[in-house]
Amino acid sequence: MSSSAGSIRRPNSGGARGAHRERHLAALRAGLAASAPGSLAQGEREDLLKMREEEKMARDIYLRLFERWGLRPFENISGSEQGHMDAILALLDHHGVPDPVQGLGVGQFRSPEIQALHDRLVQEGMHTQGTAIRAGLLIEELDIADLRVAAGRTRRLEILAVYADLERGSRNHLRAFHRWMRRLGIPYAPTHLTEREFYSIATSAQERCH
Ligand code: ZN
Ligand code: ZN
Repeated sequence: MSSSAGSIRRPNSGGARGAHRERHLAALRAGLAASAPGSLAQGEREDLLKMREEEKMARDIYLRLFERWGLRPFENISGSEQGHMDAILALLDHHGVPDPVQGLGVGQFRSPEIQALHDRLVQEGMHTQGTAIRAGLLIEELDIADLRVAAGRTRRLEILAVYADLERGSRNHLRAFHRWMRRLGIPYAPTHLTEREFYSIATSAQERCH
């Protein structure tokens, strides 16, 4: 298989899910437009830049894994990650910070660490459906852990609200991949969350979005 990264289509933005995401984003942008941007601390800025790339990593990997395996959660969740990317971009725009992934194609990143992690997870996820689901679990664990760290480093309500929203989405993604993990009967050892944190999220009920 030799499809170039650029040929992968973007997540479907149509349908009920797409409309729901559009409403979310419009509400976020309207709220931001009504507040004064203020200036970000260095750490707040770095965290937003990092989260923008990390959400892109999730989206891009799920697109690749959906193309490889055709498993529904990869398609649905890649669309949701696009929503996460859009939310972080709205914050970057609001604070006048240039988009770090501007002009980058699917599978391309500014940060060498994120590029390396992306490349490794895509490679691993290509082996079997089980390794693909494991890549998904790892991405969601990492996302939750990093969002928590970032939330601990800001007191700005508009940023905290977005991080909380994204973390709730990530918990739902983790639950979806965990159901597949059980269906496929594969083992998984959490690395970014403690076992206790991982299972308390994975085995609790799906959270509703508003
Ligand atoms: Zn996400
Ligand atoms: Zn996610």
